[in-house]
Amino acid sequence: MKLRLLYLFCLIAAFSYSQQLDKVDFKTCNASLRFDVAQKKVMGKVTYAFDVLERKTDTIYIDARNMQFDDVTINGKKAGWASSDNSLKLYKGYKKGSNTVTFSYSAKPKKALYFVQFNSQSSTSFSVTDNELEKELQIWTQGQGKYTSHWLPSFDDMNEKVVFNLEVTFDKDYAIMANGTEVNIDTRDSQNKTIRYSMDKPMSSYLVMLTIGKFKKEVRYSKSKTRLEFYYRPDDSNKVEPTYRYSQQIFDFFEKEIGVPYPWGVYRQVPVQDFLYAGMENTTSTIFAQDFVVDATGFNDKTYSNVNAHELAHQWFGDLITAKSGKHHWLQEGFATYYALLAEKELYGEDHFNYELYQMAERLQRVAKTDTTPILNEKASSLTFYQKGAWALHVLREGVGHEPFRIAVKNYLEKYAFKNVVTADFLNEINKVSDYDTENFKKRWLEKGSFEVQEAITLLNKNEFIQLYFKLGELQNKRFEEKAPIFKQILESDIYYPVKEEVLLQIANVPFEDKADLIAMAMASNDIKLRQAVARTVTNFPEEFYEEYKTLLKDKSYITKEIALNVLYSRFPDKRPELLDLSDDWVGFNDKNLRILWLTLAYATPDYREADKPNLYAELQFYASPRYESVVRQNALANLLYINKPDPVVWSNLANATVHHKWQFVKFAKNGIRGLLKKEGYRSFFEGIMPSLPEAEQRKLKQLLAE
Ligand SMILES: [Zn+2]
Repeated sequence: MKLRLLYLFCLIAAFSYSQQLDKVDFKTCNASLRFDVAQKKVMGKVTYAFDVLERKTDTIYIDARNMQFDDVTINGKKAGWASSDNSLKLYKGYKKGSNTVTFSYSAKPKKALYFVQFNSQSSTSFSVTDNELEKELQIWTQGQGKYTSHWLPSFDDMNEKVVFNLEVTFDKDYAIMANGTEVNIDTRDSQNKTIRYSMDKPMSSYLVMLTIGKFKKEVRYSKSKTRLEFYYRPDDSNKVEPTYRYSQQIFDFFEKEIGVPYPWGVYRQVPVQDFLYAGMENTTSTIFAQDFVVDATGFNDKTYSNVNAHELAHQWFGDLITAKSGKHHWLQEGFATYYALLAEKELYGEDHFNYELYQMAERLQRVAKTDTTPILNEKASSLTFYQKGAWALHVLREGVGHEPFRIAVKNYLEKYAFKNVVTADFLNEINKVSDYDTENFKKRWLEKGSFEVQEAITLLNKNEFIQLYFKLGELQNKRFEEKAPIFKQILESDIYYPVKEEVLLQIANVPFEDKADLIAMAMASNDIKLRQAVARTVTNFPEEFYEEYKTLLKDKSYITKEIALNVLYSRFPDKRPELLDLSDDWVGFNDKNLRILWLTLAYATPDYREADKPNLYAELQFYASPRYESVVRQNALANLLYINKPDPVVWSNLANATVHHKWQFVKFAKNGIRGLLKKEGYRSFFEGIMPSLPEAEQRKLKQLLAE
């Protein structure tokens, strides 16, 4: 019943908006913003210029969630207005034609704008108290899926496109970013600076962004002389090159491939702490997760290039032209996913491109029976919008031909620039350049719930590497002796690594002495991915292989190091001190995977650095605290739960995690507490720490205790 009521409410809301679009057109927004960090509050003064299109317009809405308003004037005079939980309503004072509304507001955003504090000291003693520790602050926003109207009065409807100019005042020591070009900076105040950003063209409100933090930047220029700004935390200066390695190349490639110049003048990218997603394509200013900030070793495991290309592609597909409704969401995500693949083809070649397409097809086929909502449905899954959307475009591009497809996309972008689109708008442009049957294509790929696996395989089979990969799959059940000569040939060849990886998978259960020469070949290849496949698949081996396997610990891959250390540690108990000594300065990814693994193993190893054990444990506790990003905390907490020592520090950090803004971390913490509550005595442990917890955490903990 509740659901139904909500549905009805959404219908009414959508109805009133679509009506407003016909009657009122908001043109520009000039907003100056300040923050009260202690209160987690934003305060602003805003002026909107808008045209009233119909004389009989009774109420005008601006979306604004839980905001306080003051000094509302229209065309310089006191306005007739009211505010509710979700909007500012203007009743009178405007006329047909152009108007301006000006107001002050304040808000404590529940979402869409986040204040994130964390530890800024890279080397530190692990026993300092909260007060002694220097904390670093970041403020960042996420509009899509969260609504910008939580922190800036704006428009939840993607069809209302406005030119947003933000001016922000904040502490001089911090960098401030917003959409558009920095046009003015005022530093006359001794403590604060005021930076003004300006946009030339309109966009949907979900693309408005703001980021404040301690950042440096590197500036480059694309071939077309567009300014590119790469932001990073001062601690990460050694990671700038690997993180942004292909940024400029991807940018130049898109301008050439898409054929429409980058529409926004400047493009910046900024990594933030504890971001909600991999990346977000705010116009001119992509935000991405700190996890993608990697050094030269991390680059081999986790490159930013796919996310980088995906968000940049959105600057055209999503930001320049925007879907009219959720039903056409694939026009954004399908395009961004496919163009990111095209960029990867440019960087890594045809085989890589086809292997990525193959993996997507495999995923889509695996869920085909349960995930049956077609692309053209606002309730489709992310996998459908992104990956099936990308596959649909691949089928279309191969069917139409690359050059006609390119021309159609260019015409489509130019025709609907700064406007909103539906799927028919795109297919009509295809029809103008090609006889390809788009009606039938639409039925097969956009309106059908199932995945056209045969059509996908036919396209993939055009690639020789994929042909061999498929043939190898057919050998799966053959006897090892029969296929060993073929495997040897494959490992000797220079074919793309997934085929060789498949060889290692197929011999995973063959006794070591029978496959020793094949393993030796893989180890000698110096291919990081292939050696990683050895680390993964060869876990049972004789002592003679120990020294050779140990060389994996030196590979330039944090994933390989983690696997190899785990395998060696558990296989060779007498070598543990030696293994721990040679890995005691490892850190690993942004989530400190190697440091946390090392601390756990060292702590759990009898007679190893006994005098130091309290410090090892304290360091783990430290990583579990709110001073760190949730990925670090979750790793540390998982390991502390594994160590299984009754520890109020662990319990209160779990309770603290239940109020975090990332749902994945909240879920982990709740399950952690649930697990502990099943053990004897833990109910009273948690009840014991309850009085010392902040109110919000107490509420969550009480809910868990009541389950
Ligand atoms: Zn996207």
